[in-house]
Formats: sequence, structure tokens, C-alpha cells
Amino acid sequence: MNETLIFMGPPGAGKGTQATKICENRQLKQLSTGDMLRDHVRRGTDLGVQAKQIMDAGKLVSDDVIIGMVRAELQQMADIRVLFDGFPRTTAQAQALDQLLQELHAPLYAVVLLEVDEEAVVQRLLKRAEIEGRSDDNEATIRKRLSVYNEQTSPLIGYYAGTGKIKKIDGMGTVQEVEQRIKEALA
Ligand code: ADP
Repeated sequence: MNETLIFMGPPGAGKGTQATKICENRQLKQLSTGDMLRDHVRRGTDLGVQAKQIMDAGKLVSDDVIIGMVRAELQQMADIRVLFDGFPRTTAQAQALDQLLQELHAPLYAVVLLEVDEEAVVQRLLKRAEIEGRSDDNEATIRKRLSVYNEQTSPLIGYYAGTGKIKKIDGMGTVQEVEQRIKEALA
């Protein structure tokens, strides 16, 4: 059976960590557009070369590129069982996703919104920078990513509000506590 979940929340909210757990639990494929882009950067593709500059500046890669990447992934899946992590990030991406899911007869099950304190996420990301060394985890880029989230992505909360599918989750606490809240909300 097809199932689609969207994980939303500001950078550093813990989307990736929680997404991995929920994917295991519900047998979904995790599609992180950030990971897909970082893979292009590592492989040195044309897209990767272009995307790196944008990502390092904390800005968004163009909707066309992102939508094309997601479309290609979904079209090669026999069953659409996916969890989107970091997508959609703009209204145009959300509209394109609606259309894609309709074409593929894959209904949206829920949108999980991880709510966190902004200062706490800045601190989390600075700590992650020391461990993972992601080139966009420096303070200036982190603050830019947060403002891009507030301006371009948070309007999607309103976009999905009418569907009744948004699950707002308190993202502060231990990984296990947050995981438990998400599982309860999706049960
Ligand atoms: P985070 O949410 O922690 O900032 P991501 O790995 O989701 O990290 O994204 C890292 C960067 O990749 C973003 O700042 C942006 O430049 C780019 N990116 C990822 N997903 C998208 C998307 N859906 N639309 C546009 N740009 C994206």
C-alpha cells in the first residue's frame, strides 16, 4: 500500500534522525533532498558543482532542480512508500508534489512538523559542525538557513493546515522522547 509522509521543521530540528527511525518502523524509503544534493556534490556532477555554492550560502536550490530530482526517484518506485525529509521547502515544491502524488495515486498520509526553539537549534547545529564537518554548519550560514526556513518554508504550515494532516510535535527533549511523540501522533 502506498504511503507518503512529510517531515518538516527548521534546520537542526532533528528531522533526519527521527525520519530514519520512522522509516524503519513503517517500512518507508527516506528521501532527503539535502542528502541527494550532498551526494551530487561528492560525485562532482554539474548539479553538484552548482548546488554546493547555493548550499554553502544557506539558500535554496531552484525548485525545478529539486522537483526533477524527486520526480525521477518516485517514478522508479514500484510502491510509493516514502518519507520526505527536507522537501517540500517552498509553495511551488508543495504544489508540484501534490500533482505528482495525484498522478501516482499515492495519498499523503501526514505532515509531521517538528517544533523547536531557535536558539537551541543553532547550538545543535554548531555542535554537529564539530562532529560531521558539514560546510554549511557555520553560524552565519545556519542563521541564513533559519531565516530562509521562516520566510519560504514555514508558509507551508498554512498550506497543509486545511488538509487536517499536520501533526505538530514538540521537538525538544531526548531523541527517544521525540520519537515516542511522533509514533503516538501517527498511530
Ligand atoms: P537542514 O534542514 O539541516 O538545513 P538539509 O540537508 O535538508 O539540511 O539541506 C541542506 C541544504 O540543501 C539547504 O540549505 C538547501 O541549500 C539545499 N536543499 C535541500 N533540500 C532542498 C529543497 N527541497 N529545496 C531547495 N533546496 C534544498
